[in-house]
This record gives sequence, C-alpha cells and structure tokens, in this order.
Amino acid sequence: MTETQQITNPIETDAVIIGAGPVGLFQVFELGLLEMKAHVLDSLNHPGGQCVELYPDKPIYDIPAVPVCSATELTENLLKQIEPFKPVFHYGEEAQVLKKLEDGRLYVKTSKGTEFLAKAVFIAAGVGSFQSRTLKVPHIEKFEGSQLHYRVKDPSVFEGKNIVICGGGDSALDWCLNLVGKAESVVLVHRRDGFRAAPASVTKMKELCDQWEMQFEVGQVTGFTEENGKMIEVKVTGADGVTRRVPMEHLLVFFGLQPKLGPIADWGLQLERKQIVVDTARFETNIPGVFAVGDINIYPGKKKLILSGFHECALAAFAAADYVFPEKRVLLQYTTTSPKLHKVLGVETPHFD
Ligand SMILES: Cc1cc2nc3c(=O)[nH]c(=O)nc-3n(C[C@H](O)[C@H](O)[C@H](O)COP(=O)(O)OP(=O)(O)OC[C@H]3O[C@@H](n4cnc5c(N)ncnc54)[C@H](O)[C@@H]3O)c2cc1C
Repeated sequence: MTETQQITNPIETDAVIIGAGPVGLFQVFELGLLEMKAHVLDSLNHPGGQCVELYPDKPIYDIPAVPVCSATELTENLLKQIEPFKPVFHYGEEAQVLKKLEDGRLYVKTSKGTEFLAKAVFIAAGVGSFQSRTLKVPHIEKFEGSQLHYRVKDPSVFEGKNIVICGGGDSALDWCLNLVGKAESVVLVHRRDGFRAAPASVTKMKELCDQWEMQFEVGQVTGFTEENGKMIEVKVTGADGVTRRVPMEHLLVFFGLQPKLGPIADWGLQLERKQIVVDTARFETNIPGVFAVGDINIYPGKKKLILSGFHECALAAFAAADYVFPEKRVLLQYTTTSPKLHKVLGVETPHFD
C-alpha cells in the first residue's frame, strides 16, 4: 500500500497555511494574487494570532501607510483584504503532522483528524501554540476563568471589584492603569521594585500610588484563603519574609508567555533556538515546498515585526509557484495596472488616459 492510499478523504489544495495570525492572513493575499488557493489552520478559535490574543485594543503605529490601528482592526482589515480569495479557515485545529510524500506532495493532519494534501505549506505559527506562564500556588488553578485570569477578555467584569494584579511587565502595568478608577481597588504585586514595563507606565503607576488611587506591594502570591468555594484573599509574602493578607475578588496574573513550539519540533525542520531556519530569497525551510514566515522563522537580521512578515509572504508566494505551477513562468504584476490582478481581486480595471 502506498503512503497516499493510507490517507482517507484528504482535502487537496494548492497551499496549507499553519497559523491565522497577521502574517498567515497576509500569506493568503500574496498567494491569491498568484492564483493559488489556500486553507488556513489555527489552534485558536479565532484569527489574529498574538495581536488578538494578547493586545486586541492596543494601537499599532508601524504598519506602513496605516498611521494607527488597533490589533483587532488590523485583523479585520486583513480578513477583508483576503475576502476575494475565499480562503477556507479551520479554527480550533492544531497542525500535528507534516510530512513530504514520495510523490512530492505535502501531507498535513490536524488535531481533529482533518487531512490535507498540498503542493506547498506555509508555517506562520508565530511563537507556536503559546501559553501563559502560570502562578505556582497549590490548588489555585481551580479558580482559573472565574477569579484567576491570565488574560483579559472582558474588562467590564472587573468594574467595582477588588483586584490584585501580579507581574512587572507591560501587560501588568497597563491593566493597573486601565482599571484604576473603574475597579473598587487595585493592588499590584511584583517580586521586586524594578519593572520590565515601559518607564512612562511605571512613573504613572507610582503617581497613582502616591495619590492613594492604587497600591503596590513588593512580594509574591504564596497562598489564598477560600470561603464558600470563593477565593476571598491572597497571601503575599514580601522580601522581608512577612506574609500579608490582601482581600480580593479577582486575581490577574501577567507573567508573560511560554512559547511552546509543539508538534512543529517533530517535523524534521532545521531549527535554531526554537525557530525555523529559512533563506531570505524564498523563505523556504530545509524541506522543499515548506515555507516559514513571520515570527516563527529565523535568518540573519530577522526582526519580529508584522511588516517583516508581510514582506516574507510576498517572496514565499513567488517561490511556492515553482511547486504549484511548475510549467508556468510567474511574473511580477502591479495591482494598480494589471487587468489580470483586477480580475482575481474582483475589481474593475480603471481607464487611464
Ligand atoms: C504586546 C505586544 C505588542 C506588539 N506590538 C507590535 C507592534 O506595534 N508592531 C509590530 O510590528 N509587531 C508588534 N508585536 C509583534 C507582533 O504581534 C508579531 O510580530 C506578529 O503577531 C507575528 O505574526 P505571526 O502571524 O507570525 O504570528 P502570531 O501572531 O503569533 O500567530 C501565529 C498563530 O499560529 C497559531 N499556531 C501555532 N502553532 C500552530 C499549530 N501547530 N497549528 C495551528 N495553529 C498554530 C497560533 O495559535 C497563532 O494564532 C507585538 C507583540 C506583542 C506581544
């Protein structure tokens, strides 16, 4: 039995894109211009990657020709931009298997058992399936999602409540500044009196402490008190070894993210410090036909910026044409003037005099 005969009912497509972050979404666009169809997978239940997961409402200022937009707006605009190419999304599915078959095609299988046979695969997996670093206090995990939060989905939940926030980075400080005045009380707990967050946020936080609008405690949460199934206070052990009780209703913990490369590590790709090595002409990996774009790749001078990822998508798409259209010479055309590109975009060709 050949490898392909063991695969049941696969989806055959030009390209599979692993990751629906900003770079995975823009990869659809660059492939679409070259008339390649794509299926997009993401282990999250929504598009937008880190942007939507970590900083949905924060303004981004360095997208070319877009002076400012929120991470959510960026994602919405990318989705609108790729509409003409009708990508098929598979959310809540982690790509678990990737291998090159004897016939040259690429086989991808997801956590839900969906199978693909593709001519090219684009890994746009960012930092991998990322997970928040958790608070190491025995049994506190049972409050996750109710009183213990590693990310903020709906800030209105905290209005009028007593909040304890742990961490010393931007997320911790930003949420302190955001919730002061809305929450009943805000106490920041950080293990030392030094912060990774932006200095302006730290200055503002200290001003608010001086004005008794919030409190800052140097220490670590080492325990909690439970009453009637609810957490009613956390125990904070200070640098002096003394443990103090801090009453609270919600505990927000921002200890940063742990990038988990997950199954990608087992695909036979050349890796360097948990990132995929690519060349800078094609953004191709050591497996022919498999490309890596965005935060997941590494090459000399790499900068983990959205705009770098967008550039990589364009070159990777042209390179993938070698596998999708081996007989065809694919030429660069401008979206402004090319009637062919207007056709694929579904727009009218303007008349120039
Ligand atoms: C707080 C913060 C602020 C930032 N501000 C800026 C800024 O102002 N400007 C800027 O240019 N950049 C900024 N960045 C960086 C920017 O967010 C990243 O460069 C960008 O998100 C990378 O996009 P990506 O599509 O490569 O990866 P990601 O956004 O990480 O998306 C990758 C997606 O792949 C999915 N995935 C991973 N593994 C699998 C798998 N095996 N199967 C299925 N799906 C998988 C993940 O779930 C994720 O949705 C910021 C980052 C942070 C954390």
